[in-house]
This record gives sequence, C-alpha cells and structure tokens, in this order.
Amino acid sequence: MPVPDQATLAKRARIVAAMRSIVPGEGVIDDPDALRPWESDGLTAYRQPPMLVVLPETVEQVAAVLRWCHAEGVKVVPRGSGTSLSGGALPLADAVLLGMGKFKKILRIDYEDRIAVVQPGVTNLAITQAVEGRGFYYAPDPSSQIACSIGGNVAENSGGVHCLKYGLTTNNVLGVELVTMDGEIVRLGADYPDAGGLDLLGVIVGSEGLLGVVTEVTVRILPKPQTARAVLLGFPDAESAGACVAHVIAEGIIPAGMEMMDRPAIHAAEAFVKVGYPLDVGALLIVEVDGPAAECDHLIDEIARIADANGATSSLISQDEAQRVAFWAGRKAAFPAVGRISPDYYCMDGTIPRRRLPEVLRRMEALSQKYGLGVANVFHAGDGNLHPLILYDANIPGELDRAEEFGNDILRLCVEVGGVLTGEHGVGIEKRDLMPEMFAPDDLAQQQRVKCAFDPELLLNPGKVFPTLHRCAELGRMHVHHGQLPFADLPRF
Ligand SMILES: Cc1cc2nc3c(=O)[nH]c(=O)nc-3n(C[C@H](O)[C@H](O)[C@H](O)COP(=O)(O)OP(=O)(O)OC[C@H]3O[C@@H](n4cnc5c(N)ncnc54)[C@H](O)[C@@H]3O)c2cc1C
Repeated sequence: MPVPDQATLAKRARIVAAMRSIVPGEGVIDDPDALRPWESDGLTAYRQPPMLVVLPETVEQVAAVLRWCHAEGVKVVPRGSGTSLSGGALPLADAVLLGMGKFKKILRIDYEDRIAVVQPGVTNLAITQAVEGRGFYYAPDPSSQIACSIGGNVAENSGGVHCLKYGLTTNNVLGVELVTMDGEIVRLGADYPDAGGLDLLGVIVGSEGLLGVVTEVTVRILPKPQTARAVLLGFPDAESAGACVAHVIAEGIIPAGMEMMDRPAIHAAEAFVKVGYPLDVGALLIVEVDGPAAECDHLIDEIARIADANGATSSLISQDEAQRVAFWAGRKAAFPAVGRISPDYYCMDGTIPRRRLPEVLRRMEALSQKYGLGVANVFHAGDGNLHPLILYDANIPGELDRAEEFGNDILRLCVEVGGVLTGEHGVGIEKRDLMPEMFAPDDLAQQQRVKCAFDPELLLNPGKVFPTLHRCAELGRMHVHHGQLPFADLPRF
C-alpha cells in the first residue's frame, strides 16, 4: 500500500475538527478502539485501521467532505457495507474512510417506468423487498445481498446467480448521482436506458470507488417471472458437467441461473443444510429456468435431455416452489458450509470462456496437488465465472502465503485461457499486482488517464486496482487548479 503521508498524519487533529464541523453529532469516529471494527472489509487477511471514519447523511455533507479533503490533499476511501472480497474498501492509515451506511432511503418507486431510485447504502435485498408486494424485483442477486449495499454493487459491478439471464449491475443501473473528489455533484444516465452523451455511466459502474462517491442510484426493476423451476443434475466429474453447461448454451437456452458445485462443495453444503444433494457424484449442476409455465416445462425437458447426452447420472426436477428453494439453499449456504470444513478459506473470482471449463478445472486440481491445499469449487458456471475456495489454516505459518500463490496461479490460468482476472468481486488490492498479466503497460496507462480525468490528484481510494499509480502529469495530463500548476517540478511533454 502507499506509504502513509506524514504531513497528513501530523494534521490529524485539524482534519477531525474540520470533519466534525461538516458532519456534526456522531458522524465522525476518531477513537482508536472505535476505529478497530472498520479495519478490514470481506478480505479479512488484510487489516489497517483508518485515520478516521466519517459517516455523512446528506449529499451536501459528502460534497463538503470531499471538497475539504481535496483542498487539503487528504485521501478518501469510500465504503458501503464492507463486504468486498477484493479489499476495495480496505482503509488507509492516512485517509478518511467515508462510510455511506446512513444513506438508507428508498427515494422513489415508479412502477410504470419500472424503476426505483435509492440511496447507495440501501442493501441489494432491500430493493426487492420494497417492490415485491407489487410483484416486482431487482434482478442482480449477489450471495451477500442481505448485507451488501447498492452503492458497493455499482462500484464492483456485482453479479449473482440470476445475472446469466438478466445481466450484471451494469445492465440494471440506469443512472447515478455522483460526487467527484473536488466536491462537484454530477448526474449520469437517466430514468430510461441509453441517455444521451458519452456512456460515462458505463465508466462509473465497476470503477471500484476510484472515480467518485455514488450518492443515488436509479435501478431497473422487473416483474417477477410467472414460474420458476430448477433441476439438480449429478455428473461423474466436473468435466462432464462443464461440457453440459457449454452444450446448454450452445443450443440457445439461457437459463435464469446455472451453478456448479464440485464434490468437496457438495459434501460441505449437504452436511450443513441437508437438502438432499446426491453425494455419489463428482459435480452437481443446479439449473433454473423461469417464465410462463409451458416454456419452463419445455426448457427443463430440453436441459434434462442435454444433460443425459453429456453423461448425467442423476436428475431431479423441482416439483413445487418449496423444493426449488431447497435446491438453492445448499448453493447459497456453500461459502459458510465450506467454512465448517476448513479453518480458513480464500475465495477467488476469475472468469473463463465456458468451453474451457473442463480443462481449467483439471489444471486447478493439479495446482491443488502442487500447493498441498484443498480447493472447493462453487461457481456461476453459465457465465464461466469461477469461485474456487482455497482451503487453508491461517494459524499454520506460511499457509496464507501458499494460498495466495495458489490463487494467483488460478487467476493467471484464467487469463491464459482467454478469460479475465475478475468476474464480479473486483480488482481491489487482491488482484492489483496481477493486472500486468492481463493488460500491457499502454492499456494500464490508458485506464489511468480515465482516473486522472476524474481525480487528477489521485486522492480517491489510492493503492487499489492500479499496480503502479503514476502521477497524472506523467501521463501527459495537466490540470491547473486556481492557477497552481501541479507537480511543477516535473518536465512537461
Ligand atoms: C459471503 C459473501 C458473498 C459474496 N457474494 C458475492 C456474489 O455472489 N457476487 C458478487 O458480485 N459479490 C459478492 N460478494 C462481494 C461483495 O458483497 C460485493 O462486491 C458488494 O458489491 C460489495 O458491496 P459493499 O456495500 O459491501 O461495498 P464495500 O465492500 O463497502 O466496498 C466495495 C467497493 O465499493 C466502493 N464503494 C462502496 N460504496 C461506494 C459508493 N457509495 N460510492 C463509490 N464507491 C463505493 C468501495 O470504495 C470499494 O472499492 C460477496 C461477499 C461476501 C462476504
């Protein structure tokens, strides 16, 4: 991480006082004990208490905090619910941690336009809960949906089981209100798709808190499908299950969800939730279709036929809603279930072309032997989005390092077969140093020019995503603020 700036630390008391004048009451936390709970996000292997936490309640407060920090050269790390698995919300010792948890209001629901306008601290699930009484829902459904915020979802372009058919966050967000690092409040997108101008909304979704602080989100809501049915398909090995996934898609069927679990994950989940998963199979597919009942019946039959042709050894179709929900219960509880069989696990997130699934799973097994660490696989098979859970024990010296190296090799493998470093968890600090595996220096410089356009002083969430954060002047951009030439010592080109 960037070395803490001593000049900033030296003026901490003044920063605290300034923040208190902007966010009065209990909105500023600076007591060292009270800062402890904020020291990490979902990537708990990394910890760093923040310099202080600020919890604004209004957009004006967010703008004033950012404006002040910008003028004083103080770094800011935005945070939603802190469930990031890539360390995106990891605090910095010399930065303000800007918690958006008090932005909890659903501002407007318009069923005719099928949109909901919400504040960024609203949880993903709360959006569906707010509209389900009228038969609507918000489609992207991360497993963390009970806790993660929609602001965090926008920053990470989060996904979930149903994103195969309905798209990721980026396909379900129509507009945002954003405060830039210099305190300017801007609106991107609209209440309808494809607002005019450059697609800056597309730039913001997935920008991991590096370009601005999201203060309002307009999402698309969808009518709940008339029917949903799921089928549990058992296969002798992950390769035949992987081949089935590729064939289902190749036949033109887009299931609502298509998830795979390998043997260790099946056993862990079944022991935890006891929903009747077959234990004599090497891999399990849970495939869900939704829509009118006749369409679902037809698609389920087609999927069962394709599974048969790919060597499925068992097939169980949900007969009612309770059974469908039970099928998913094991999958949804798979992470905590794996937590019961290993003291620690490290959840990876890479994406590969679907047709390479069998090969990648085979090579992952070889890596597991090489590193002497178990791996359980639970993933969005239809999207080719892998979530290998590497099993380790943090109390054994060197095991975390080995788990990380194993994880890095898995991500390198994803890139080698034509995939990408992340499917939905983001780059953060976790995958930051692997970015050159995927991008050439010119690509990275070009990406950083976008960062410089929004935040030329590199004050917002520094140390994340980019392996080397070049000063913007090095990239040829010159932003003159109040007549002051930044980095005056550097030669211009
Ligand atoms: C058990 C578990 C299961 C998970 N399952 C999934 C899954 O199925 N799919 C998936 O995609 N992810 C999953 N995640 C990861 C995580 O929940 C998502 O990345 C989520 O979107 C993070 O939201 P958050 O509110 O917790 O954000 P945080 O963790 O607080 O922050 C994440 C990033 O967003 C930025 N950020 C947060 N709020 C704002 C804002 N208002 N403006 C600008 N930037 C902001 C932060 O700076 C940081 O870079 C899982 C995590 C856990 C712990």
